Amino acid sequence: MKRLTLLLLVFVGCGPQAPEGDYDLVILNGRVMDPETKLDAVRSVGVTGGRIETVSAAPLRGRTVIDAHGLVVAPGFIDLHSHGQDAANYVLKAADGVTTALELEVGTADVDRWYAERAGKSLVNFGVSIGHIPVRMAVMGDKEAFLPQTSDKANAEAATDAQLEEIKKRLRDGLKKGAVCMGFGIQYTGAAARWEILEAFRIAAEFKASCHVHMRHNGRKEPNNSTHALEEVIAASAVSGAPLHVVHIHSTSVAATPRHLQMIAEAKARGMDVTAEVYPYLAGMTKLNSGVFDGNWREALEIDYKDILWPATGERLTAETFAKYRSSDDYAIIFSIPEIAVNAALAHPQVLIGSDGIWDPVKKQGHPRCAGTYARILGKYVRQDQVLPLMEAIRKMSLGPAQRLEHHAPMFKKKGRVQAGADADLVVFDAAKIIDRSTYDNPTKHSEGFAYVLVNGVPVVKDGALQSDVLPGKAARAPLR
Ligand SMILES: [Zn+2]
Repeated sequence: MKRLTLLLLVFVGCGPQAPEGDYDLVILNGRVMDPETKLDAVRSVGVTGGRIETVSAAPLRGRTVIDAHGLVVAPGFIDLHSHGQDAANYVLKAADGVTTALELEVGTADVDRWYAERAGKSLVNFGVSIGHIPVRMAVMGDKEAFLPQTSDKANAEAATDAQLEEIKKRLRDGLKKGAVCMGFGIQYTGAAARWEILEAFRIAAEFKASCHVHMRHNGRKEPNNSTHALEEVIAASAVSGAPLHVVHIHSTSVAATPRHLQMIAEAKARGMDVTAEVYPYLAGMTKLNSGVFDGNWREALEIDYKDILWPATGERLTAETFAKYRSSDDYAIIFSIPEIAVNAALAHPQVLIGSDGIWDPVKKQGHPRCAGTYARILGKYVRQDQVLPLMEAIRKMSLGPAQRLEHHAPMFKKKGRVQAGADADLVVFDAAKIIDRSTYDNPTKHSEGFAYVLVNGVPVVKDGALQSDVLPGKAARAPLR
């Protein structure tokens, strides 16, 4: 029966009814931009079975035809830092050109369960790290939550030798189960010793898995500042050999960002594998009950209470309201990031883009970065402010993230590229019109300017409209070991 089907396929494939160059879907005459080969020319793309079959200067025929004349055709964006991992968040991601959403900073303590919960139910591709934060919370005996609160054991208590061994065991187990990298939020686990962090890096190094780190301290103020924190993780990377990826370098380093970009470039010049990440906004967001607000955060971040927006009510905080809300589990939006920090990070070749986005559909709280990061890069920072060229922006949002992960998770070698053989994760957009629409008041407004977004060859945005009746997202996962 199998042989008969094969023969039939061969016959039909050569027959007159299906001429050569007949694809499931073709994208005709777009400005194809491939950041790996640097191709930037009018081409047509043929897609069959979820894969790019050809990128051609000749005309192509397909069962579905997308006219991309005047539009850019680029690899779909890979969000390295996407906390929102449910249907509501995937809609915002798809509408912003993201075809693969990865939770790599916080990650999970249970890799199998995390992937099982999303299999066959996702609009976009999804993936996760083994997370030092949730592993530490589980081992130390905290209740399950997105992040530890300041008084939880994961933030407040050092691990015993036995607990450290258990943390290491679970981290190694997570990488064996296909987590794409290892995540850290040292500021949320402030009592974790530097030795514990180094031990975790050593495990990541066994797998060539990158360490995606939210660093231990903010700002410039000595002695416990972000320079010290960056030295901690550069040292851990140098000693262990694990690749280092510093998440949201601008919101942690604030005014020290340009100096820290220099350190990261110098580490690379010494032969180290170090990258960083930025989102294109002047405010961060986190839980007010977390370790970020331990110690003298006003001095560290060089801000005051009034620089915190409380989305639950729309108010700016005071000393009194800060104290009142400190133990609340709501999000705070923190206007702490100097514009120079964003611009310097965006222009730096080792810095990739990650949204750090989450929309909480129950609390109805979020930051505009969840829905707007990628269109904002293309509209504001490429077109309007000309902080970086279009090809470089595309690289930082697609190929760069794929390359970051492909040593441990080789399936990323087929992502972030518009080339024959690559996965058909693609965006088709109008470079003259693309722009973000989400704001601090209205963080879920969809971005504008994406004509098509394809996930594994299936349109999730079609003629500018979101498609809600498809679930083409697949697991982005490292091999089981
Ligand atoms: Zn973070």
